[in-house]
Amino acid sequence: MAQNVEPGTASGYQRLSLWWEAVPAPLPPRPVLTQDLQVDVCIVGAGFTGLWTAHALARTDPSLRVAVVEREVAGFGASGRNGGWCSALFATSDAALARQHGGDAMRAMRRAMQETVDVVGATAAGEGIDCHYAKGGSVDLVRSEAQRVRALAEVDQARAFGFGDEDLRWLGRDETRELIGADRVLGATFTPHCAALQPALLARGLADAVERRGVQVYEHTEVLDILPGSPGSRPSVVTRGGVVDAEVVVRATEAWTPTLPRLHRDIVPVYSLMVATEPLGAGFWSSAGLEGRATFADHRHMIIYGQRTADGRMAFGGRGAPYHFGSSVRSSYDAEPAVHALLRRTLTELFPDLEGARFSHAWGGPLGIPRDWHSSVGLDRDSGLAWAGGYVGDGVATTNLAGRTLADLITGADSDLVALPWVGHRSPRWEPEPLRWLGVNAGLWTMKLADRSEARRGRPSRVAGAMGRLLGQ
Ligand SMILES: Cc1cc2nc3c(=O)[nH]c(=O)nc-3n(C[C@H](O)[C@H](O)[C@H](O)COP(=O)(O)OP(=O)(O)OC[C@H]3O[C@@H](n4cnc5c(N)ncnc54)[C@H](O)[C@@H]3O)c2cc1C
Repeated sequence: MAQNVEPGTASGYQRLSLWWEAVPAPLPPRPVLTQDLQVDVCIVGAGFTGLWTAHALARTDPSLRVAVVEREVAGFGASGRNGGWCSALFATSDAALARQHGGDAMRAMRRAMQETVDVVGATAAGEGIDCHYAKGGSVDLVRSEAQRVRALAEVDQARAFGFGDEDLRWLGRDETRELIGADRVLGATFTPHCAALQPALLARGLADAVERRGVQVYEHTEVLDILPGSPGSRPSVVTRGGVVDAEVVVRATEAWTPTLPRLHRDIVPVYSLMVATEPLGAGFWSSAGLEGRATFADHRHMIIYGQRTADGRMAFGGRGAPYHFGSSVRSSYDAEPAVHALLRRTLTELFPDLEGARFSHAWGGPLGIPRDWHSSVGLDRDSGLAWAGGYVGDGVATTNLAGRTLADLITGADSDLVALPWVGHRSPRWEPEPLRWLGVNAGLWTMKLADRSEARRGRPSRVAGAMGRLLGQ
C-alpha cells in the first residue's frame, strides 16, 4: 500500500504511489547543495514543471548553467503520483478564457495544449524514456439525465467556439459500449486529445535526461526562501547548505508554494486521491474494453479519473478529500481512508465485474488551485523571478507547455508560445483564514451534494452551477 510514506528512505519513496513502485531501486544518489553556487537559471522543484523547464532550456541553449533544487527527490510531488492523463485539458474553461482574452487567444491556447499531448510522447521517446505512453483519447461517460444535459451542452459549446467532431464528439450508447464496458451508460463525450502514461517513470526519466544534458539536479535540498532581484541585483535561492545566485529563478513548487515565505495565499493545495487494482485478467478486460487505453471519467461534478495501466490494472482517482486549514501540506494527508473506500466503491459501481477484485494500492497527493482557476506562466524581468503553475488537476501536459514557454521567455525567443494568453497572467490571492478554509471546503461539499441530488432527482443541480460561476468558470 502507498500509505504512511517515510520520505527520506528509498523504500519510502517507492511507496508514494503505484507508479513509484516501478522506479528502479536504489535511486541514483544525487548531490545535496552544501555551498554557494552561481548559475544562469535556478529552478526550485523537480516535478514536471521544473524538469520540463530544465529540459527546454538545455535544448535551446546548451551553454546555459542550469541548476534544479529539490527538497526530496525528483518526481516526489504530484508529478510522480497522478492519474497519468496527458491531456489537452486546461484548467480554465474555454468560456472563461474567451471572456478574458478573446476567442482567438482561447483557440490558440487550446491548439497549443492539443499539440503538447504529442510533444510529451515524442520528447519522452526521443530521450529513451519508456513511460507507457498510449494515445487512446479520453471518454467522459454519461450515466444520468443530468449528466446528459451537461455533456450535450459541452458539445454545443465546443461547436460554438469552432471545435469540430475531431476535437470533441458525442458517442451514443452503443458506440460508447464498443469503447468501454462500464455499467448504466447512456452515452459519452469523446476527445482524441489525451494519452495515458506512467508518470513516475516519466518524471524520473526526465531527471536523468536533463542531467545527461548538463543540468545539475540537487536533491534533499530544501529551499527556505526565494529572494527577488532588482534592476541592479540578481535574485537568489536560500537553502540550508548555501545560497544560489542566478540570473533567473523559476518557482516550480505548485501545491507547496504556500509553504514558502510571503506566498501563503497564492495557491491552495487540494488533495486528489487514487486507488489501483491488481492486474486484472483477460476475462475482465474482454468486457471492460479500453483496448487503446483511452482514459475515462464521467460528467459528475466531483472529478473522477481512471486509466487502464500498461500492466492491465485499473488506476482510479478522484477529489473529495478535505482542504486543510492554513494551506498546510503533509504526507499524512496523502491517505484518507474514507475517500479511498469511496473510490473503490465508485470504481466497482462503474465496473461491477470488479466485485471481489483486490485493490493493491491507495495513495494521494496535493495539487495547486489558483483563486481564479487560471493556470499561468511568466517571467518578471525586474525581479528575475519566473513561475509556472496553478494547473488544478491538469498539469501532466500543461507542465511541458510551461517548460517550453519559460525557456522562450528566459532566452528571449519571440515565439508563438510567449504570446499565449496564460503568459504573464496574475491570479488574485486567496482569502485569509478562516475564510479560505470555509470557502474551499464549502465548494467541495457543494459538488458532493450536487452529485447526490442529481443521482436522486435526475435533474441538473443549480447549486453547483452557481458555485462554478462564483469561481469564474
Ligand atoms: C493524485 C493526483 C492525480 C492527478 N492526476 C492528474 C492527471 O491525470 N492529469 C493531469 O494532467 N494532472 C493530474 N494531476 C495534477 C498534476 O500531477 C500536477 O499538476 C503536476 O504534476 C504538477 O507538476 P509540478 O512540477 O508543477 O509540481 P509537483 O510535481 O508537485 O512538484 C513540485 C516539487 O517542488 C518540490 N518543492 C516544494 N517545495 C520545495 C522547497 N521549499 N524546496 C525545494 N523543493 C520544493 C516538491 O518536493 C516537488 O517535488 C494530479 C495530481 C494529483 C495529486
